[in-house]
Amino acid sequence: MEQKPGCRASAVCVVVGVRDSLVQTAHDGAGALLPAPVARPILPDKGIGGMRILVVEDEKKTTSYLRKGLTEHGFAVDVAAEGSQGLSCALADAYELLILDVMLPGRDGWFVLRELRRAGKDMPVLILTARDAIHDRVKGLELGADDYLVKPFAFSELLARVRSILRRSAGRTPEQIRVGDLEIDVLRRQATRAGKPLNLTPTEFTILVLLGKHRGEVLARSLIAEHVWNVQPDAGSNVVDVHVRRLRSKVDDPFLQKLVYTVRGAGYVLRAGD
Ligand code: CA
Repeated sequence: MEQKPGCRASAVCVVVGVRDSLVQTAHDGAGALLPAPVARPILPDKGIGGMRILVVEDEKKTTSYLRKGLTEHGFAVDVAAEGSQGLSCALADAYELLILDVMLPGRDGWFVLRELRRAGKDMPVLILTARDAIHDRVKGLELGADDYLVKPFAFSELLARVRSILRRSAGRTPEQIRVGDLEIDVLRRQATRAGKPLNLTPTEFTILVLLGKHRGEVLARSLIAEHVWNVQPDAGSNVVDVHVRRLRSKVDDPFLQKLVYTVRGAGYVLRAGD
């Protein structure tokens, strides 16, 4: 697979439809999406369950350091090296966190943050910058940043702050999703139907949460793959279908009422009733 140029700014984020025009996405484990025997896991489960972070930073050394470290800790990472591009990415796609440098080519981090909040996007933002002047810290927090980290920093400190921000922001996303008699407890990572626990793997749970957050919307396979594994599946790969089939066998098979539907040529949708 080729390295993708920045994030998928040109792509529409979570919508119904086909994303034929998408660029090939990057993935550290390139090649891992080849069709594989069903008997063993096709891809490793991400520890964080497909949490997506956008890094807007122009220093290549820092971005590769962040990408590597965060990926190793189970996050899906997109990178934009320029302010306007970062803003487009953040506006167009669903990220759990934005790590934002201040000094950027083109539009700076302050502009990005201001425009993001003006557009009503409330994703958490961690400001990352070489500036350590106190007025900059105040400015960042006043503009709606959630935290502030001065370069150079230890990765362990960044990770601790990222986790702390994500814990705090968990309250901003729905904790419970209900579709018919299906209940998804997002924080406790448990799902039940008619009160009976469904024994889902982390990957199945992540897919179910994604479908649940967009219940009633048809989600393309490519979109599911990107959210769960941060990759575009190779043409002909059935990785998403295999995982959805397993998910469906647990969510739907024991019950009369079906919730997970296949929309031919489009993708999957979670909905109660027709
Ligand atoms: Ca910079």
